[in-house]
Amino acid sequence: MSHPEQPPSAVSAPLDFIRTIIDEETAEGKHGGRVATRFPPEPNGYLHIGHAKSICLNFGVAAERGGTCNLRFDDTNPTKEDVEYVEAIKEDVAWLGFEWDELYFASDYFEKLYDFAVELIRRDKAYVDSLTAEEIRQYRGTLTEPGQNSPYRDRPVEESLDLFQRMRKGEFPDGTHVLRAKISMASPNLNMRDPTLYRIRHAAHHRTGDAWCIYPMYDYAHPISDAIERITHSLCTLEFEDHRPLYDWLVEQFVDGRRDRPRQIEFARLNLNYTVMSKRKLLQLVQQRHVAGWDDPRMPTISALRRRGYTPESIRDFCSRIGVAKKENVIDVAQLEHSVREDLNRRAPRVMAVLKPLKVVITNYPEGKEELVDVINNPEDESAGTRRVPFSRELFIERDDFREDPPKKFFRLSPGKEVRLRCAYFVTCTEVVKDPHGNIVEVRCVYDPATRGGDAPDGRRVKATLHWVSASHAIPIEVRLYDRLFSIEDPEGTPEGGTFLDHLNPDSLEVLRDCRGEPSLGEAVAPARFQFERLGYFCVDPDSRPGALVFNRTVSLRDTWARLEQKTVRKD
Ligand code: ATP
Ligand code: MG
Repeated sequence: MSHPEQPPSAVSAPLDFIRTIIDEETAEGKHGGRVATRFPPEPNGYLHIGHAKSICLNFGVAAERGGTCNLRFDDTNPTKEDVEYVEAIKEDVAWLGFEWDELYFASDYFEKLYDFAVELIRRDKAYVDSLTAEEIRQYRGTLTEPGQNSPYRDRPVEESLDLFQRMRKGEFPDGTHVLRAKISMASPNLNMRDPTLYRIRHAAHHRTGDAWCIYPMYDYAHPISDAIERITHSLCTLEFEDHRPLYDWLVEQFVDGRRDRPRQIEFARLNLNYTVMSKRKLLQLVQQRHVAGWDDPRMPTISALRRRGYTPESIRDFCSRIGVAKKENVIDVAQLEHSVREDLNRRAPRVMAVLKPLKVVITNYPEGKEELVDVINNPEDESAGTRRVPFSRELFIERDDFREDPPKKFFRLSPGKEVRLRCAYFVTCTEVVKDPHGNIVEVRCVYDPATRGGDAPDGRRVKATLHWVSASHAIPIEVRLYDRLFSIEDPEGTPEGGTFLDHLNPDSLEVLRDCRGEPSLGEAVAPARFQFERLGYFCVDPDSRPGALVFNRTVSLRDTWARLEQKTVRKD
């Protein structure tokens, strides 16, 4: 019952604006026809589904065009970063099905970045500024007013060189000096108003330890790292659009006339409803224990989706369906669910499990008798074959599949009604057994032996087919049902005075501890995925222990939210 993960295909994805630009440039012979991309996460949290979009784009474009894609950790912010995140990110990228050509860390370039900063000072393109952070802010000006030059802007090159070296040596406390590019305080683009290239930060780095107490800014490290790796296309999200002039300025200084320079192209980030995506907020959910961890199946992280039962194929399929464009929008999480449902429908073996068991005793079935009925493993995949499921006198069915007083259109089991037990027999309810409090504890039925396999030779029909498990053969399982983590579409858009945490969905997790699965499930190990017939797709959770399996519901069989919403619309 396994389904090996399939690698991403190198067949061309549809042409989006980025692929079009790359193909045009390649045709013109730019970069000598090379395509080199990179995926540059900061190791300050786990990757989320938004990152998957960027991963699929960067690795996809390179694979389709015979190029390369590096995984580069942008680890320039020592206080927020950690090796735990580095390892998790590597695992997630690999799990998504991508292989990086080279693995780099921006911290690999600290020495080169430093040397180039010295070079910029020598060329009078950078200077050490000794204003306070607050003063720098004041001098920067605003969107409507130009900035003012710092009084230190014209300090002699030699003096800046000396100070910068001493900054590195650790002679100054945090915040006393910064290195700034000398561009223009009058630029209409605030990013060009002598941006900071280096700051002093006496903090240990997860890779370089205490070797450094000055760290490059992202805006400096990123373009130079791209240029060092000879990236051809630096694909990033739209918030970096205003940083592009600085990117180009720095690259220009660095390549110094070489024709081969990386080009930054921005695309719209993925936004999903009913969740938050910023790593800062995800970290808050973890730290404040609103969720069990980064891989809590309700999180939008890759590791959570994996634990929840998503396949890498379904995530890649989702990313290719949403495409790449320049305009921001919000994608309905139902689209993500659709992708996994479609994939699992094709591949997941069907099994029977009962989430809320109700005992059924078939009074005319011989005591002690048991038989095996043949059940098809996957109607979508003939090669999956059939299996044999034990049937006996005492069974469990779903409590929801029985009503003592059925409403009009309830066709499942109720007193006097006949239904089919999937692939087994027709049964008719004859009696309801209650405890002294009036709770139904058992339902008694009679079966028709002529209907073995699930069809009546006289052609008589029933309106419902129920799933079931044999009481003595079934294994106890725990099932965790997940719903959206937030109860409103846009928790990040919470107005002033509130936070996204005000909108956590209190019912996002339901744990059912008394479920029963057919015996074949006993052999399942994480991350085995199944369709529980009539209930949805489920996978084995790593919390499982021998004899105590735990299953996560990946997704229901149908989009119940869409149905709920339709209902409300109809009522109005
Ligand atoms: P966050 O804002 O969630 O903390 P980030 O942008 O700071 O994310 P990085 O680790 O810097 O996270 O991101 C690595 C790459 O992934 C960047 O190129 C970034 O543009 C891209 N990326 C991040 N979030 C999204 C998203 N929602 N959709 C598409 N790409 C994204
Ligand atoms: Mg970032």
